[in-house]
Amino acid sequence: MPAGLQQCFDFSAPPAAGAVPPGGAVAVGDGMEPPGPPAGEAVVLRRSAKATRYRLSVNRGGDAVLTIPVRGSERRARQFLESQRAWLTRTRHRLAQLPRSAAVWAVGTRVLFRGEWSAIERAAGTPPHVRLGETSFRVRRFEGDLRPTLEAHFRRRARIELPPRTWELAAVTGVEVGEVSVRNQRTRWGSCSANGTISLNWRLVQAPSFVADYIILHELMHRREMNHSERFWTHVDAVCPQWREAEHWLKHHGSALGL
Ligand SMILES: [Zn+2]
Repeated sequence: MPAGLQQCFDFSAPPAAGAVPPGGAVAVGDGMEPPGPPAGEAVVLRRSAKATRYRLSVNRGGDAVLTIPVRGSERRARQFLESQRAWLTRTRHRLAQLPRSAAVWAVGTRVLFRGEWSAIERAAGTPPHVRLGETSFRVRRFEGDLRPTLEAHFRRRARIELPPRTWELAAVTGVEVGEVSVRNQRTRWGSCSANGTISLNWRLVQAPSFVADYIILHELMHRREMNHSERFWTHVDAVCPQWREAEHWLKHHGSALGL
Protein backbone atom coordinates (compact mmCIF):
# COMPACT_ATOMS: atom_id res chain seq x y z
CA MET A 1 0.00 0.00 0.00
CA PRO A 2 1.73 3.19 -1.07
CA ALA A 3 1.77 5.93 1.51
CA GLY A 4 1.44 9.62 1.64
CA LEU A 5 -0.87 12.48 1.10
CA GLN A 6 0.13 13.51 -2.32
CA GLN A 7 -0.96 14.82 -5.63
CA CYS A 8 0.76 13.76 -8.83
CA PHE A 9 0.57 14.32 -12.48
CA ASP A 10 2.49 12.72 -15.28
CA PHE A 11 5.38 14.65 -16.62
CA SER A 12 4.01 14.35 -20.12
CA ALA A 13 0.59 15.70 -19.17
CA PRO A 14 -0.13 19.41 -18.89
CA PRO A 15 -1.16 20.54 -15.41
CA ALA A 16 -4.93 20.53 -15.24
CA ALA A 17 -6.56 23.25 -13.17
CA GLY A 18 -8.22 21.81 -10.09
CA ALA A 19 -7.06 18.35 -11.03
CA VAL A 20 -8.29 15.57 -8.81
CA PRO A 21 -5.70 12.86 -8.25
CA PRO A 22 -6.47 9.35 -9.40
CA GLY A 23 -7.87 7.43 -6.49
CA GLY A 24 -8.36 10.48 -4.30
CA ALA A 25 -5.93 12.44 -2.21
CA VAL A 26 -5.35 10.01 0.61
CA ALA A 27 -3.85 6.60 0.18
CA VAL A 28 -4.59 4.00 2.82
CA GLY A 29 -0.95 3.66 3.65
CA ASP A 30 -0.56 7.13 5.03
CA GLY A 31 -0.42 8.18 8.63
CA MET A 32 3.05 7.36 9.72
CA GLU A 33 4.92 10.57 9.26
CA PRO A 34 6.07 12.01 12.58
CA PRO A 35 4.44 15.30 13.53
CA GLY A 36 6.68 18.11 12.36
CA PRO A 37 6.76 21.80 13.14
CA PRO A 38 3.54 23.79 12.63
CA ALA A 39 2.66 24.05 8.97
CA GLY A 40 3.57 27.25 7.25
CA GLU A 41 2.48 28.34 3.83
CA ALA A 42 5.79 27.40 2.28
CA VAL A 43 6.30 24.58 -0.16
CA VAL A 44 9.78 23.16 -0.63
CA LEU A 45 10.72 22.42 -4.23
CA ARG A 46 12.93 19.39 -4.63
CA ARG A 47 14.41 18.02 -7.81
CA SER A 48 14.61 14.25 -8.05
CA ALA A 49 16.56 12.15 -10.53
CA LYS A 50 14.16 9.26 -9.94
CA ALA A 51 10.87 11.13 -10.21
CA THR A 52 8.99 10.78 -13.48
CA ARG A 53 6.26 13.26 -12.67
CA TYR A 54 5.49 16.29 -10.54
CA ARG A 55 4.35 15.33 -7.08
CA LEU A 56 3.06 17.40 -4.23
CA SER A 57 3.15 15.74 -0.83
CA VAL A 58 2.26 16.92 2.65
CA ASN A 59 3.44 15.31 5.85
CA ARG A 60 1.48 15.12 9.08
CA GLY A 61 3.03 18.34 10.27
CA GLY A 62 1.71 20.11 7.17
CA ASP A 63 5.13 20.53 5.54
CA ALA A 64 4.75 20.39 1.79
CA VAL A 65 7.33 19.20 -0.73
CA LEU A 66 6.93 19.54 -4.47
CA THR A 67 9.09 17.04 -6.33
CA ILE A 68 10.24 18.03 -9.80
CA PRO A 69 11.21 15.29 -12.23
CA VAL A 70 14.72 15.49 -13.58
CA ARG A 71 13.65 16.95 -16.92
CA GLY A 72 10.92 19.10 -15.40
CA SER A 73 10.99 22.86 -15.04
CA GLU A 74 10.40 25.11 -12.10
CA ARG A 75 7.84 27.03 -14.12
CA ARG A 76 5.77 23.89 -14.71
CA ALA A 77 6.22 22.98 -11.06
CA ARG A 78 4.75 26.31 -10.01
CA GLN A 79 1.84 25.89 -12.42
CA PHE A 80 1.17 22.50 -10.92
CA LEU A 81 1.37 23.96 -7.43
CA GLU A 82 -1.15 26.68 -8.34
CA SER A 83 -3.55 24.04 -9.65
CA GLN A 84 -3.25 22.21 -6.32
CA ARG A 85 -3.54 25.20 -3.97
CA ALA A 86 -7.10 24.42 -2.89
CA TRP A 87 -6.18 20.79 -2.20
CA LEU A 88 -3.12 21.87 -0.25
CA THR A 89 -5.08 24.29 1.93
CA ARG A 90 -7.81 21.74 2.53
CA THR A 91 -5.32 19.00 3.34
CA ARG A 92 -3.30 21.14 5.75
CA HIS A 93 -6.47 22.20 7.48
CA ARG A 94 -7.65 18.62 7.81
CA LEU A 95 -4.26 17.43 9.09
CA ALA A 96 -4.29 20.12 11.77
CA GLN A 97 -7.61 18.72 13.10
CA LEU A 98 -6.40 15.13 13.45
CA PRO A 99 -5.83 13.62 16.88
CA ARG A 100 -2.22 13.09 17.80
CA SER A 101 -0.58 10.63 20.07
CA ALA A 102 1.28 12.15 23.00
CA ALA A 103 5.06 12.11 22.56
CA VAL A 104 5.69 10.91 26.08
CA TRP A 105 3.43 8.33 27.68
CA ALA A 106 2.87 8.46 31.43
CA VAL A 107 0.15 7.18 33.77
CA GLY A 108 -2.97 9.08 32.69
CA THR A 109 -1.91 9.53 29.04
CA ARG A 110 -4.56 8.42 26.58
CA VAL A 111 -3.24 5.84 24.15
CA LEU A 112 -4.87 4.14 21.19
CA PHE A 113 -4.96 0.36 21.53
CA ARG A 114 -7.28 -2.06 19.71
CA GLY A 115 -9.06 0.96 18.28
CA GLU A 116 -9.93 2.45 21.67
CA TRP A 117 -8.46 5.48 23.37
CA SER A 118 -7.72 4.48 26.95
CA ALA A 119 -5.86 6.28 29.70
CA ILE A 120 -2.84 4.38 30.99
CA GLU A 121 -3.81 3.18 34.48
CA ARG A 122 -1.59 2.00 37.23
CA ALA A 123 -2.51 -1.56 38.22
CA ALA A 124 -2.15 -2.88 41.75
CA GLY A 125 0.30 -5.57 42.79
CA THR A 126 3.82 -6.62 41.92
CA PRO A 127 5.62 -6.71 39.59
CA PRO A 128 4.44 -3.30 38.34
CA HIS A 129 1.79 -3.37 35.63
CA VAL A 130 -0.24 -0.76 33.81
CA ARG A 131 -3.64 -1.27 32.23
CA LEU A 132 -4.99 -0.07 28.91
CA GLY A 133 -8.67 -0.88 28.92
CA GLU A 134 -8.91 -4.60 29.59
CA THR A 135 -5.29 -5.41 28.89
CA SER A 136 -2.45 -5.17 31.35
CA PHE A 137 1.20 -4.75 30.50
CA ARG A 138 4.22 -5.27 32.63
CA VAL A 139 6.46 -2.24 33.11
CA ARG A 140 9.72 -1.80 34.93
CA ARG A 141 8.54 1.25 36.83
CA PHE A 142 5.72 3.78 36.66
CA GLU A 143 7.98 6.80 36.40
CA GLY A 144 9.50 8.08 33.20
CA ASP A 145 8.33 7.53 29.63
CA LEU A 146 6.26 4.34 29.33
CA ARG A 147 6.06 4.59 25.57
CA PRO A 148 9.11 2.48 24.63
CA THR A 149 7.99 -0.33 26.96
CA LEU A 150 4.36 -0.28 25.82
CA GLU A 151 5.29 -0.07 22.16
CA ALA A 152 7.58 -3.07 22.61
CA HIS A 153 4.56 -4.94 24.04
CA PHE A 154 2.41 -3.85 21.09
CA ARG A 155 5.05 -4.99 18.67
CA ARG A 156 5.35 -8.37 20.35
CA ARG A 157 1.59 -8.84 20.21
CA ALA A 158 1.59 -7.86 16.55
CA ARG A 159 4.23 -10.49 15.79
CA ILE A 160 2.12 -13.11 17.57
CA GLU A 161 -1.24 -12.11 16.12
CA LEU A 162 -0.85 -10.68 12.64
CA PRO A 163 0.84 -13.58 10.77
CA PRO A 164 -1.72 -16.24 11.86
CA ARG A 165 -4.55 -13.86 11.00
CA THR A 166 -3.00 -13.34 7.58
CA TRP A 167 -2.75 -17.09 6.95
CA GLU A 168 -6.32 -17.52 8.12
CA LEU A 169 -7.64 -14.81 5.79
CA ALA A 170 -5.46 -16.16 2.97
CA ALA A 171 -7.08 -19.56 3.42
CA VAL A 172 -10.58 -18.07 3.54
CA THR A 173 -10.02 -16.05 0.37
CA GLY A 174 -8.04 -18.76 -1.41
CA VAL A 175 -4.92 -16.68 -1.87
CA GLU A 176 -1.43 -18.11 -1.62
CA VAL A 177 1.04 -16.13 0.40
CA GLY A 178 4.74 -16.46 1.01
CA GLU A 179 6.34 -15.12 4.12
CA VAL A 180 4.44 -12.80 6.44
CA SER A 181 6.54 -10.34 8.36
CA VAL A 182 5.68 -7.73 10.93
CA ARG A 183 7.74 -4.60 10.61
CA ASN A 184 8.26 -1.10 11.83
CA GLN A 185 7.36 0.70 8.63
CA ARG A 186 7.10 4.42 9.00
CA THR A 187 5.17 5.22 5.90
CA ARG A 188 2.88 2.30 5.23
CA TRP A 189 0.46 -0.09 6.85
CA GLY A 190 1.42 -3.01 4.77
CA SER A 191 2.93 -4.14 1.52
CA CYS A 192 2.93 -7.11 -0.76
CA SER A 193 5.94 -8.03 -2.85
CA ALA A 194 5.90 -9.70 -6.24
CA ASN A 195 7.00 -13.01 -4.70
CA GLY A 196 4.09 -12.95 -2.25
CA THR A 197 5.81 -11.70 0.89
CA ILE A 198 3.39 -9.67 2.95
CA SER A 199 4.75 -7.12 5.41
CA LEU A 200 2.49 -5.61 8.02
CA ASN A 201 2.99 -2.67 10.33
CA TRP A 202 2.97 -3.63 14.02
CA ARG A 203 0.88 -0.53 14.77
CA LEU A 204 -2.10 -2.38 13.33
CA VAL A 205 -2.66 -3.81 16.84
CA GLN A 206 -3.53 -0.26 17.86
CA ALA A 207 -6.30 -0.15 15.26
CA PRO A 208 -9.69 -1.87 15.52
CA SER A 209 -9.61 -5.45 14.27
CA PHE A 210 -11.78 -4.68 11.23
CA VAL A 211 -9.16 -2.15 10.13
CA ALA A 212 -6.28 -4.60 10.61
CA ASP A 213 -8.30 -7.19 8.67
CA TYR A 214 -8.88 -4.70 5.89
CA ILE A 215 -5.15 -4.00 5.53
CA ILE A 216 -4.41 -7.73 5.48
CA LEU A 217 -7.13 -8.38 2.90
CA HIS A 218 -5.94 -5.40 0.87
CA GLU A 219 -2.44 -6.86 0.70
CA LEU A 220 -3.81 -10.34 -0.04
CA MET A 221 -5.78 -8.96 -2.98
CA HIS A 222 -2.50 -7.62 -4.37
CA ARG A 223 -1.71 -11.29 -4.99
CA ARG A 224 -4.46 -11.07 -7.61
CA GLU A 225 -3.80 -7.55 -8.86
CA MET A 226 -0.45 -5.91 -8.25
CA ASN A 227 -1.92 -2.41 -8.62
CA HIS A 228 -4.79 -0.22 -7.48
CA SER A 229 -6.89 -0.64 -10.59
CA GLU A 230 -10.66 -0.90 -10.63
CA ARG A 231 -10.25 -4.68 -10.85
CA PHE A 232 -8.18 -4.63 -7.68
CA TRP A 233 -10.86 -2.70 -5.78
CA THR A 234 -13.52 -5.10 -7.03
CA HIS A 235 -11.54 -7.93 -5.42
CA VAL A 236 -11.18 -5.93 -2.19
CA ASP A 237 -14.88 -5.11 -2.14
CA ALA A 238 -15.80 -8.77 -2.56
CA VAL A 239 -13.76 -9.95 0.44
CA CYS A 240 -13.98 -6.83 2.63
CA PRO A 241 -17.23 -4.90 2.08
CA GLN A 242 -16.38 -2.55 4.98
CA TRP A 243 -13.17 -1.30 3.33
CA ARG A 244 -14.49 2.24 2.99
CA GLU A 245 -15.21 2.40 6.69
CA ALA A 246 -11.70 1.10 7.40
CA GLU A 247 -10.17 3.70 5.11
CA HIS A 248 -12.21 6.35 6.84
CA TRP A 249 -10.94 5.19 10.24
CA LEU A 250 -7.34 5.24 9.00
CA LYS A 251 -7.77 8.71 7.58
CA HIS A 252 -8.95 10.03 10.94
CA HIS A 253 -6.80 8.06 13.31
CA GLY A 254 -3.70 7.32 11.30
CA SER A 255 -1.96 10.40 12.65
CA ALA A 256 -2.39 9.11 16.18
CA LEU A 257 -0.45 6.02 15.17
CA GLY A 258 2.36 8.09 13.73
CA LEU A 259 5.71 8.37 15.43
ZN1 LIG B 1 -2.30 -1.45 -2.10
